[in-house]
Amino acid sequence: MLGRKERDQLELFITGSLKQLVPDEHVLARVDRVLDLSWLRQEVTDCYCANDGRPGIDPEAAVRLMLAGLLSGIVHDRKLMREAQVNIAIRWFVGYGLHEQLPHHSSLTRIRQRWGEERFRRIFKRTVEACLKAKIATAEVVHIDASLIRANVSWDSLTEQHVVDVLSENQNEDESEAEKTGRQSGKYKKVCTTDPDATMATNARNRRLEPSYKQHTAVDDKVGVILDVAVTTGQTNEGEMIEPQVDEVEAITGIDIKTVTADAGYAYAKVYGALERRGIDALIPAKAEPIKSRVPLRRFRYDAKHDILKCPRGRVLRPARPIKHGRFFYSKAKDCARCPLKGDCLSKGRVNKAVVVGNDYPALLRARRRRERWSWQDRRLYQRHRWRSEGFHGEAKTWHGLARAIRRGLPNMKIQAYLTAAAINLKRLAAALVALLLCLIASLDASPSASRGVPG
Ligand code: SF4
Repeated sequence: MLGRKERDQLELFITGSLKQLVPDEHVLARVDRVLDLSWLRQEVTDCYCANDGRPGIDPEAAVRLMLAGLLSGIVHDRKLMREAQVNIAIRWFVGYGLHEQLPHHSSLTRIRQRWGEERFRRIFKRTVEACLKAKIATAEVVHIDASLIRANVSWDSLTEQHVVDVLSENQNEDESEAEKTGRQSGKYKKVCTTDPDATMATNARNRRLEPSYKQHTAVDDKVGVILDVAVTTGQTNEGEMIEPQVDEVEAITGIDIKTVTADAGYAYAKVYGALERRGIDALIPAKAEPIKSRVPLRRFRYDAKHDILKCPRGRVLRPARPIKHGRFFYSKAKDCARCPLKGDCLSKGRVNKAVVVGNDYPALLRARRRRERWSWQDRRLYQRHRWRSEGFHGEAKTWHGLARAIRRGLPNMKIQAYLTAAAINLKRLAAALVALLLCLIASLDASPSASRGVPG
C-alpha cells in the first residue's frame, strides 16, 4: 500500500537527551568518548578579564565547535554555524540544546586572535599525550614529511617585487644584465600582497608556482598518530626543519626516537649528520651525486682519520678555505701538471683541483653505502612511510579541509594545522577505543564460562 507521511504536524515535546538521536558510531559520538578538555578553562583564564565585560563563550564549547567543523569537513566559520543550527550531532557535541542560541561566527575569529597559536598547540599536544597514554603511539619509529598548502589568496593579489618594478622603470643599456641578475637572485619571484606570509612554491618541476604554506609533519609508525606539526612559509626547505622537529617530538613524548624515515627531499649531508649525532637510524634514500662529471666526486676518497681527500690518481687534497656548510680541499698544482686525467678532472683555466666537501660529507657517504644494502625490513618500513605520512596529508586535505588555508597569515595557518592534527589524533584514539572494546567482547565470548552459557 502506498504510504503517506504527515509533514505539518508539530511536536509538542521532545523528551530525553539529544545524545539519543546521535548514533553511537557517528564520528562526533566516538570522539566525544575520548575528548577531555576539562583543563582548558584554566589554560585560557588569563585571556579574559576576571570581573568585567560580557561573559564570553565557554572555552570548551568553542574548541568543540572548531573540532566538529574539522571532523565534518566544514572548515569555514559561517558555514559551520549555519550547519550547527540544524545539525543535532554538532549541537549535542558542543553542548547546546535545540532551542539555545548558537554563538555568532565572528566569536570564533575573536577567540583565535585572543588565545593565540600557542594555546592551540597545547590542545594538539594534549591529544599526543592521550595517544601515548593509550599506547597507540610509541614514538620510536617516526615518519617525517612535508606538504604544501595553498594560501587563501587570489591570483590577482600576486605582484612582482618592487625591485623588479624599479628595474623596468629605469631601463638602460645594462637592462639585459640587470634582468639576468634579477632572474638569478629570485627577484622575479611573485609576492602576495594580501597574505605576505605565503610564498611561491611548487612540489613538482612541471607544475606552476603557487602562493603556499608548508606543513612539516612527524607521524608515529604504529597507527599513524601525529606527533608534531610545524608550519612555515612555502619556500622553506624541508631539510632545515627535520632537526628541530626531531627535538620537538622527543620533548613532547619524552621518548628517544630510534628510526626516522623521510623521502629523498631530505637526503642532505647535514640531515644524515644531525641524525647520526643523535644516535637515530636515518632511513632516507640517499641521492646519487648530482653533478655529472667524467671524474665525479665519488672517486675522491675522504680519509676521516687524516682529514684529507685522495684523488683517483692517489694524490692528496688538503683542506683550506672554510665556507658556510663545508670546506674547500685543494690539490697541488705540481701533482696535476703531468696527470693524464687532467683534461677531464680540472675546470677550465685551473692548474689544480678544488673540491668542496660538506661538513657532514662522511655521514652522506655512509648513507649512500647503506642505501645499497637496505634490508627487506628497511624497504618495508620505507613503504610504510609512504602510506603513513603521505596518507596523513591525503586524509587531512581530502576530509578535513587542509588542501587550502582557511584564513590568512602564518599564525592562522598554524592554528588550522594544529586543530586538524588534533582532530585526526582524536579519530585515531576513538578508533583504538572501539577496537579495544571489540577485543574485550570477543574475548568474553570466547571464554569457557561464556561458551557453557553460564551467566557472567
Ligand atoms: S688532475 Fe690532479 S686531482 Fe685530478 S686526478 Fe689528476 S692528480 Fe688527481
